Amino acid sequence: MHAYGRFNTALVSGKGATAVDSEGKEYIDFTSGIGVNSLGYCDEGWTNAVAKQAATLQHISNLYYSPLQTELSKKLCALSGMKRVFLCNSGAEANECAIKIARKYSFDKYGSGRQKIVTLVNSFHGRTVTTLAATGQDVFHNYFFPFTEGFVYAEANNTDSLKSCIDDEVCGIFIELVQGEGGVMPLEQSYVDEIAAVCREKDILLMVDEVQTGVSRTGTFYCYQGYGIEPDIVTSAKGLGGGLPIGACLCSEKAQDVIVPGTHGTTFGGNPIVCAAALEVLSRVAEPDFLKEVNEKGDYIRAELMKIGNVKEVRGKGMMIGIVTEKDNAKEVAAKCLENGLLILTAKNLLRMLPPLTITYDEINKGLSILKNTMEA
Ligand SMILES: *Cc1c(COP(=O)(O)O)cnc(C)c1O
Repeated sequence: MHAYGRFNTALVSGKGATAVDSEGKEYIDFTSGIGVNSLGYCDEGWTNAVAKQAATLQHISNLYYSPLQTELSKKLCALSGMKRVFLCNSGAEANECAIKIARKYSFDKYGSGRQKIVTLVNSFHGRTVTTLAATGQDVFHNYFFPFTEGFVYAEANNTDSLKSCIDDEVCGIFIELVQGEGGVMPLEQSYVDEIAAVCREKDILLMVDEVQTGVSRTGTFYCYQGYGIEPDIVTSAKGLGGGLPIGACLCSEKAQDVIVPGTHGTTFGGNPIVCAAALEVLSRVAEPDFLKEVNEKGDYIRAELMKIGNVKEVRGKGMMIGIVTEKDNAKEVAAKCLENGLLILTAKNLLRMLPPLTITYDEINKGLSILKNTMEA
């Protein structure tokens, strides 16, 4: 189906932060497949872990225990402070699980009528009918009616707007701490603190969509750890499998008994190969030295970007970076960068960078020099 407006390039191989197309042309990769290839292309440890598991046991369904799934779930709990994990296959699915948990938590405790979820204007939560409804952007609320009811949208960083959305029917507040697709917009600490306080006061579940911000992308393992809040539900996907499809919905002790047999499930979710891939990713990216490097590289990239002509503003956290251009020509720049040997993303009218977390300074410098030449041409 013609679902995508694609660049006219076919990529066939890669190593680290360098991709190669069908004509043999090389590209520096500032995209990591939209924040997925945390360890870059064909990292040796990752490739070995996946190949070994593929040759051992590829899939068993969720009717049986899988030691790898157990190990991954334990590791995710240890790294996040959460108590339970549901493994699925994508960000949208992780968010569907989060929404189901919030509604059933409230139903179990208070009965019906407390089912609203507050999300933020300009958010992005996925492409299923329910996660589209959760997404606070009118452009996504077309064609596919009727959408799932029960979502209300508060303006980011606006406490009055948040308060006007809270009533006795709200069971959850669902936020991205740095809005990704919405244009790399970090939430202010005071606003996040306000949300956390309202949630505590009214027994509303604090739900954080870490699909893009998580797995060390923003300089802490999960972005909420940098904000010092304790969510009740956390969703994760993109970078978690390092290139294989895996999503996770985590919940705190408070919501740990909500999902019981028969209330949720998936055929593929958490299969041994994707778990082996995710375990390799976690064994690497959660180390303090690695996180320190993510922050240092992010700071370096931001500082270098500010020296480039046509750069008006640089936003983001860690290695999730948005670039506002003076000429408001991000789409054009991204297309020209491709011609010049650099893969870079856009979000709204920004240029966006989500490089592999393992990118070397040499690759960073090569990519930035292509970006500079393109931006200043
Ligand atoms: C990408 C993304 C999603 C959707 O993830 P899929 O794997 O494409 O379903 C949800 N939330 C956020 C914040 C995202 O960036």
